[in-house]
Amino acid sequence: MKIIIAPSKYIQGKDALKELTKYGKVFGKKFLILADEFVTNLTKDLIVEGNSNEDVELSFALFNGECSKNEINRISEIVKENGSDVIVGVGGGKTLDTAKAVAHYTKLPVIIAPTLASTDAPTSALSVIYTDSGVFDEYLLLPKNPEIVLMDTEVIANAPTRLLVSGMGDALATYYEARVCYAAKAVAMAGGQPTMSAMALATLCKNTLFERGYAAKLSSDANIASEAFEEVVEANTYLSGIGFESTGIAAAHAIHNGFTAIEDCHHLYHGEKVAYGTIAQLVLENAPSEEIQKVIDFCQLIGLPTTLVEMGVKGNLEEKMRIVAEASCAEGETIHNFPYEITPAMVYDAILLADKLGQR
Ligand SMILES: [Zn+2]
Repeated sequence: MKIIIAPSKYIQGKDALKELTKYGKVFGKKFLILADEFVTNLTKDLIVEGNSNEDVELSFALFNGECSKNEINRISEIVKENGSDVIVGVGGGKTLDTAKAVAHYTKLPVIIAPTLASTDAPTSALSVIYTDSGVFDEYLLLPKNPEIVLMDTEVIANAPTRLLVSGMGDALATYYEARVCYAAKAVAMAGGQPTMSAMALATLCKNTLFERGYAAKLSSDANIASEAFEEVVEANTYLSGIGFESTGIAAAHAIHNGFTAIEDCHHLYHGEKVAYGTIAQLVLENAPSEEIQKVIDFCQLIGLPTTLVEMGVKGNLEEKMRIVAEASCAEGETIHNFPYEITPAMVYDAILLADKLGQR
């Protein structure tokens, strides 16, 4: 069976947060807005000012920083006390995942408003739950995607460029991983095999990055929400979001997970490790040289790591890469979405050859 899933509505543009309730009021009148302290300081005034003319009630809850069961229960209690009927998450990944989980347990609609374009998680029907001390706990698979994903590109253009670039690293993997899953008829997180439609979005994602990625990076450096910037925000968030969820992931993300096993790479963002994993995946597939070179050139142009030194790996290279390769091939890892068997030895070779190609 083929399946594609998506948020019900995707809204993107300058000052979109000022129109939050204009689009959200079809779902209710009492909005509970969840954001951490930093994002509250950044956005509360513009949300209040922009949404004052609608016949709605806004209340704000401060997110404590961890998407844990205790925090989800605490916010759910606030929702019940306030009689809120719409949940809004504003900020980064953990805030958004908490908003999704709260909406799920209180059976309310949710609006997701990222202040960054650093990953493809916002559109998904998934929350990653941690313990109170920040250790991974479990994946909470939700029965539906968010009602609305709303991207205020004015706010996002003022975020650090490294986060946008990291988002491009995450989005870069989408097409290449989709291609593997499509060939293998693998079942994606959406619960079915990739559709033609999802494949078309994954292809558009890749083309948008290659054509607009560098201009978007420069726009972010200058804090300008240019057309190129808008296109890349859409690629990082919507195209890559539908992509990973409805076409599936493969070696790039598995190798990313492998790199989380070594201390040296803990300073890197998700998309930075995924970018290196993408190059290693292409080597693993024995993709045409021109295709691999195009990806390496793009990564170097926008500032994504293409060598192990740039990944922060210092000393004991072979030993560490054996650990990464082993972890990449753990049971249940998405690397097994390949249409043929992948072994740690194959991944090890691919990681080291990717490093040599990056150095050239
Ligand atoms: Zn990812």
